[in-house]
Amino acid sequence: MLSAACAVLARSDRGHFAADRPDARSGARAAAGGVEAGALTSGNTEEETEEVFAAIDEGRLKLLYMAPERLASGAAVSLLKRANTRLIAVDEAHCVSQWGHDFRPDYLRIGELRRALGVPLAAFTATADEETRGEIVTRLFDGTEPAIFLRGFDRPNIHLAFEPKAQPRQQILRFAEARRGQSGIVYCASRARTESLAAALREAGHPACFYHGGMEAEDRRAVEARFQREDGLIVTATVAFGMGIDKPDIRWVAHADLPKSIEAYYQEIGRAGRDGAAAETYTLFGPEDIRLRRTQIDEGLAPPDRKAADHGRLNALLGLAESISCRRQKLLAYFGETLDQPCGNCDLCDAPPETFDATEPVRKALSAILRTDESYGAGHLIEILLGNANDKIRARGHDRLPTFGIGRDLTRIEWQALFRQMMGHVLIRPDAARHGALVMTRRAHPILRGEEPITLRKDLIKKAKSGPVVKALVADEDAPLLSALKAKRRALAEAAGLPAYMIFNDRTLIEMAETRPETLDQMAGISGVGAKKLESYGADFLSVIVGDVAPQHPQRRKLAGRDEGALFDALDAAHQALARGVEGHDRLMRLSASELRRVTERRPRDLAGMERVGGLTAPQVERFGAAFLDVIADFETA
Ligand code: ZN
Repeated sequence: MLSAACAVLARSDRGHFAADRPDARSGARAAAGGVEAGALTSGNTEEETEEVFAAIDEGRLKLLYMAPERLASGAAVSLLKRANTRLIAVDEAHCVSQWGHDFRPDYLRIGELRRALGVPLAAFTATADEETRGEIVTRLFDGTEPAIFLRGFDRPNIHLAFEPKAQPRQQILRFAEARRGQSGIVYCASRARTESLAAALREAGHPACFYHGGMEAEDRRAVEARFQREDGLIVTATVAFGMGIDKPDIRWVAHADLPKSIEAYYQEIGRAGRDGAAAETYTLFGPEDIRLRRTQIDEGLAPPDRKAADHGRLNALLGLAESISCRRQKLLAYFGETLDQPCGNCDLCDAPPETFDATEPVRKALSAILRTDESYGAGHLIEILLGNANDKIRARGHDRLPTFGIGRDLTRIEWQALFRQMMGHVLIRPDAARHGALVMTRRAHPILRGEEPITLRKDLIKKAKSGPVVKALVADEDAPLLSALKAKRRALAEAAGLPAYMIFNDRTLIEMAETRPETLDQMAGISGVGAKKLESYGADFLSVIVGDVAPQHPQRRKLAGRDEGALFDALDAAHQALARGVEGHDRLMRLSASELRRVTERRPRDLAGMERVGGLTAPQVERFGAAFLDVIADFETA
């Protein structure tokens, strides 16, 4: 038994991520899956910890989840030795990278642990670029080349979209409204915003709650449990939320504020659509976000070259936000992959943006920046370009600059969009040392000198007002059935105390709604419906599609308003009553709604006629035929 013991090191609830007990939950899930597993985290109760130690001493434990922070005390190593650990698995292995975006010093201890135990090690991550992969090899495997399994970065079912901030709250509400009833996460840059957005969403009638690292551990746990279990809940959260979230049917992820880097963006949107069904993402960004993220990097404690790397990662994200062609091609290129064709599943593929040659206005803006000694923010510079001689401008003599009033051909809003895009293309950046004043970067030199043109987007402002297009998971005619299937799933999940997706995931329900299986055999052909689930839930869902809800079924609907409708209902009632035979313990058998409809329309007078009704098999006639003849006879004499 001991020989299979395995230690899993995963990010814990401590440190700046503050994700609450992801490892504990993983442990619970493994235990639920029939594996003797336990977790050691700071969120444990004393009894939980004692139970884990007891299981180790008795040699029962197969899997132990623990946070790398535990390795700081030597006790953990001797504990793992005592447990006869045979394998170490490391989750989120990119945290070992000192230059990466999620560096955690305690991850560096894992290499020592491997040497101390002398056992194989497996490392997992979803976001490592080539450099980070190299660091994982060096630090966890002592540089000896392990077997590396790389899967592509592309998640083709995730729709990508960005939008400049206009009225962020309204933009998020509109996005959520178009996806009412779908589970989603709204990431926010501040705790306060998670709370105010959750309140706004609730006011708009959405089930929503907030989550951030400042909450009590117990409250955070409650939100996680609710999100895991409930279908259609929206959580507004800081990045603290999601580390341990393992919910496959998150249908959308929105960013109310710009994430801190392209890696963080990729990781956060990657929480959507893990079941493979269509999922959407929506990221808002504005000049204030850029300033905030720059300041966070500049004011951090990292050494200068690490800060430079962080600015580079933010630049990559800004480039993605301000892109004028397929976003997925850009995103994948960052991770070293090539997508030959535009993806067809991002906002820029949906509606290619209108662009214009922005070389001249960009040069005017750069000139205004240089002539004022790179000492001002966009607001003041735009007033100079527009030629508005306010007090501040007159006091500094800026109304006598050659650039004063040279930008009257554009509106203030257009200039704001231009400055934001210039920041996105890193032609200019706010300088922390100058209180956020805009300074020119090297990239701008060729444009200023007239050696290179630049193309920018024209339609951003208009688009921001029109809002995102409503997207449904299925075609209109299948939507009511999908809702009915989801309602059934919710009822079954609540009865069993399980998260909804454990019954069937969204992708399976979508396929059911689209293909409308009429028998359990057909149901078995749907992806995600294994033998076990077919037995447990097949009949329940089939009855939603063909049976008990006959009045809503299209076959029944075709008879609506005619007196055949009543006959159909009577036949259906007889059919339901005999689904398991006269005694109620025969093999389950049902007719499809279209077969019932044919019986209704043909009204056979005898069993021979019944057999001629298209689609009916001999066993079906044997089970239902006589009862149907009675129903038809009653109906005609009534
Ligand atoms: Zn695209």
